[in-house]
Amino acid sequence: DVQVAKEYVSEVYQAVKERNPIENEFHQTVKEIFESLIPVFAKHPHYIDNGILERIVEPERLITFRVPWVDDQGKVKVNRGFRVQFNSAIGPYKGGLRFHPTVNASIIKFLGFEQIFKNSLTGQPIGGGKGGSDFDPKGKSDAEIMRFAQSFMSELYRHIGPDIDVPAGDIGVGAREIGFLFGQYKKIRGVYEAGILTGKGLGYGGSLARTEATGYGAVYFVEEMLKDKGLSFKGSTVVVSGSGNVSIYAIEKATQLGAKVVTCSDSNGYIYDPNGINLDTLKKLKEIERKRISEYVDVHPEAEYYEGTSGVWSIPCDIALPCATQNEIDETAANVLVSNGVKAIGEGANMPSTLEAIDVFLANDILFGPAKAANAGGVAVSALEMAQNSIRLSWAFEEVDAKLHQIMEGIYRNCMKAADDYGYPGNLVVGANIAGFLKVADAMIDQGII
Ligand code: GLU
Repeated sequence: DVQVAKEYVSEVYQAVKERNPIENEFHQTVKEIFESLIPVFAKHPHYIDNGILERIVEPERLITFRVPWVDDQGKVKVNRGFRVQFNSAIGPYKGGLRFHPTVNASIIKFLGFEQIFKNSLTGQPIGGGKGGSDFDPKGKSDAEIMRFAQSFMSELYRHIGPDIDVPAGDIGVGAREIGFLFGQYKKIRGVYEAGILTGKGLGYGGSLARTEATGYGAVYFVEEMLKDKGLSFKGSTVVVSGSGNVSIYAIEKATQLGAKVVTCSDSNGYIYDPNGINLDTLKKLKEIERKRISEYVDVHPEAEYYEGTSGVWSIPCDIALPCATQNEIDETAANVLVSNGVKAIGEGANMPSTLEAIDVFLANDILFGPAKAANAGGVAVSALEMAQNSIRLSWAFEEVDAKLHQIMEGIYRNCMKAADDYGYPGNLVVGANIAGFLKVADAMIDQGII
């Protein structure tokens, strides 16, 4: 009964808003996911009787903690640390840590909620979690980063473990930070548990292709969407936002597949390079020198630098890959992309499109790969890293990359099938939410009211 399902969803959504006031990002993802599930509840009312939404939307645990550290001038600083252990129905909590000044409970909960469904979609046995801090790594020395990471782990260690909760990176947390976090965990616990974190360095339990996985995976996913329409990356013009780990490897894979990627960005501005973004320059600038993207034009004077980030979406393109951060494409930007003839969107970042922007894409029949499906390659290879740590072996790059490719194809097919089965053919937003939900919900029901 569709009416009953609609009422159920709207009732629980209202309750979520009342119980979690001002958590706008969390409300946004809850709204998107809940609305997609109406056809499921209409067809299978037992989920309603089981209180599935009331249960799934409440984190199993939300930990906040003090993170005190001393800066290079000897001044004491305090940041706030978070870990949300959202859902463990299908495996240990799994999800990244974000170090960024915008981090708060709403951001962590939106990311953690998304992570439940994303992780389910990968087909791997991983639950949903997320964490981070409002610490701003920008402009900090290596020593400050290390002291902060050590303090952060001095509290986090008691909440994690290879079969409990396995954090990884996200914005502001890369190989350097994971290394410091790992060292501190090992020192406090006195055991070598390689599987407590993923995204580790290759010398101490990291997986080949983990660095590339999110960006490559997003491109593999979009490739599947395009293939179904007789299109491909070859000869296409692509715009990418961001210049972090996701962007760099999305640019790399898209370029390998014959696309020309003409933009990338950071929080200050964006680069337009009509010749195609030069990856060696970008990697050197961001991965080694940790500099601002504006310096790209010093090496490539034919490229242009513009202040502000939303301008990326005004560059005409066939494919857009938002790989920076949440809500970077609003309704206006979506309309500009559509009027410039965009054919496909693949979300590399988490929730980069607002609800209104998604509506614009879907209403215009643009191929749209939602984040929890399109960017699941990162966490999928994290789960492969956990598997390698468990068996104390490491697989070759080609082997992991081939598995990643298979996983992304599988996610695409499962999302398309779920969308079809529930009456929304081709709608990957609905398909991803339903396919991700069903596995978790069924596991929760099998395990009783806990
Ligand atoms: N932070 C990434 C994500 O948003 C990866 C998480 C992980 O590898 O655990 O999915």
